[in-house]
Amino acid sequence: MEIYLDNSATTKVCPEAVAAAVRAMEQEYGNAASLHRKGFLAEQEILSAKRSIAKAIACQPEELYFTSGATESNNWALIGAAMAHKRRGNRFITTTIEHASVLHTMDYLESQGFEVVRVSPNADGNFDPQMFADAVNDRTILVSCMLVNNETGLRLPVEAIAKAVKRKNSETLMHTDAVQGFLKLPFRVKNTGIDLLSASGHKVYAPKGIGILYRRKGVRILPLLHGGEQQNGERPGTDNVPLIAAFGAAVEAYFPHQRAYLDQYTALCSRLCGRLAEIPGVSIHHDAERMVPYILNISCERLRSEVLMHYLEQAEIYVSSGSACARGEKSHVLRAMGLPDTEIDTALRISFSKDTTPEMVDAFADRLATAFTELEKIGR
Ligand code: PMP
Repeated sequence: MEIYLDNSATTKVCPEAVAAAVRAMEQEYGNAASLHRKGFLAEQEILSAKRSIAKAIACQPEELYFTSGATESNNWALIGAAMAHKRRGNRFITTTIEHASVLHTMDYLESQGFEVVRVSPNADGNFDPQMFADAVNDRTILVSCMLVNNETGLRLPVEAIAKAVKRKNSETLMHTDAVQGFLKLPFRVKNTGIDLLSASGHKVYAPKGIGILYRRKGVRILPLLHGGEQQNGERPGTDNVPLIAAFGAAVEAYFPHQRAYLDQYTALCSRLCGRLAEIPGVSIHHDAERMVPYILNISCERLRSEVLMHYLEQAEIYVSSGSACARGEKSHVLRAMGLPDTEIDTALRISFSKDTTPEMVDAFADRLATAFTELEKIGR
């Protein structure tokens, strides 16, 4: 039995998304910009996907733009805001635990002369909205704060941060990288003060290479790409109808069961925490109050993450030694959260999907327990 517990890195595409992509490739293969019937049918696929996604986050379909993924959405939100508002200000604010696609875009903006303030978690590992408001001045263009951290599962208070930021400077834009929370958590963007939101298809059972940027009506950012009139000329390029249709179908299939899946993750998480607590040497970095139940970060005393990951792989169990995007480097997130090196070097991330079962979780815990004795035996 293959036990895939690395769903925060990516998910298996669901049958509904596969069917939609095939339909778009084999039947509705027209160019959505074409004025004939084939073009019209392709355009309908796009509108339908937009409606499905808009419903899931409570926004208007016209406020959504399709991108090549959240990396592009994050780049567009930040660089697009910088270019549109550089006369009004020069400051950007973010956290120290963002994904590389926000952190490195901020580094780029800094290299271009913008000022970047990076907010660290407090001693309890939390982000207090006031810390962001304190960093906002009258020259602050944008604040970017992720919804859920991809390594620890920490749920950040982005709604409260947006309110605190707007109270200090109503012109400051609020962006959230919602990749690890989108669809899995009930989240309504309406009336939150959030102006820009990024999400990605492949974390929610759609294929890789498709994402969205939500841009609240009236919010101004400049385009990164220049070309034709697709997506109002704001994100030109022939519309990727197969992936867009697949994204819409994946959301449509998941959304009605959002609550039930969340309950399922909660049950799986407490089962796994219970099993792991019985294994000497495992420390669980999880707090149900502050963290989502579908991402679990642990450390395994004296067993290096990579060694453990490959040991588990031999039993067809797939987990992550951190985030897939930060291969080999010491986790900046666990460091920012104040974990000692010994726990960072031995960290594992386990992440669930709608298809994860209690048996899979048990098999993982059993194998992990064996790792402590077997890997010790061969001297690692
Ligand atoms: N933000 C976060 C929090 C992520 O986890 C990821 C994916 N690892 C991304 C952004 C980038 O998304 P994409 O793969 O669609 O570019």
